[in-house]
Amino acid sequence: MKTSIIAVGTELLFGQTVNTNAAYLSDRLNHMGFDVMYHFVVGDNPERLREKLAEAFRDTDLVLLTGGLGPTQDDLTKETVAGYMGAGMYEDEQVVADLRSFFEKRGGAMPENNLKQALLPAGCVPFYNASGTAPGFALTKDGKTAVCFPGPPREMTWLFENGVKQYLGQFMEKKMYYRVIRTIGIGESDLEMLLMPLIDGQTDPTIATYAKEGECTLRVASQRDTLDEARSAVDQMIAKIDTLAGEYIYSYDNEDLNEVVVRLLKEKGLSISAAESCTGGLFAAALTDVAGASEVLSSSYVTYSAAAKASELGVDPGVIGRCGVVSAETAEAMAKGAKARSGADIAVSVTGYAGPDD
Ligand code: ATP
Repeated sequence: MKTSIIAVGTELLFGQTVNTNAAYLSDRLNHMGFDVMYHFVVGDNPERLREKLAEAFRDTDLVLLTGGLGPTQDDLTKETVAGYMGAGMYEDEQVVADLRSFFEKRGGAMPENNLKQALLPAGCVPFYNASGTAPGFALTKDGKTAVCFPGPPREMTWLFENGVKQYLGQFMEKKMYYRVIRTIGIGESDLEMLLMPLIDGQTDPTIATYAKEGECTLRVASQRDTLDEARSAVDQMIAKIDTLAGEYIYSYDNEDLNEVVVRLLKEKGLSISAAESCTGGLFAAALTDVAGASEVLSSSYVTYSAAAKASELGVDPGVIGRCGVVSAETAEAMAKGAKARSGADIAVSVTGYAGPDD
């Protein structure tokens, strides 16, 4: 089903708030098999929101909106959507009761403007909000559906997971399954060339490559009548990808590189240490980010200056003098020093230029 997302809020246009709601909804909807075709961002302005609603409904059948459902004067999404779809408003008793008990529990009187949140478009499907005060809702007219969420990401995700996702199930004609493969040591275009025999002319499963910092990911996705069919199509395609590019693949399930490194070290019963110069401990920090890293890493060294390389790791100043700090010889001596001093099975060293001003 063709879908658009409209995020409402002037703070998004000012750059004060990053539009994480659209990213979250896109990810979840794609996962479910919806075709997310457009993202729009509109300020708190009913005329411009109306224009974008018209555009979104012209090109897509499902429009998800976030933001502007709160009690304040600038919260106009609900009224604008209801007006656009020709619905009047009614006061929802359950929302009124929820609001009163919310404020009672907090021990204060409810500001009257909060009752605005209990007004919902007639004929809508309400989504009551246990994580905040503004409910969401879905409203359908002539085969087009709008789903509105409050703006705070915690409330939006709660409503999505506790109501909207189930509601959207009725629109899913096909089941979608995808896996994300992570690779290292190959650039995006080389990877695409390698996989061209599989990518060329392929409609389902689809294979998409994405370049990320320092690595490349592949998303293999299939939409079939049943989830089992989609899963088996993806798994068969991954087996083919494996024969062509297996040497570059480090995860078939979207794991981070540091997680995979720690997991492999644990599986093999090996420990690791590092001698770092310009990275200032980033390598060790990446590993210690992973839960249970203490099983594989007990000590690591940050030796920024030549003197520290000599005193902490026992690097021969003669090697640095002869070959320079940034040289294979110094890197080797650093790794050997870290291995000897830490007693780890494996030691990695990093040395390089940090930048123009060092
Ligand atoms: P409230 O009940 O808080 O008034 P609301 O539905 O009116 O909810 P907004 O007032 O538009 O929502 O936004 C509330 C907060 O939610 C914003 O301050 C912002 O931090 C966050 N927010 C809004 N829209 C987004 C978005 N698209 N992505 C991420 N955060 C958002």
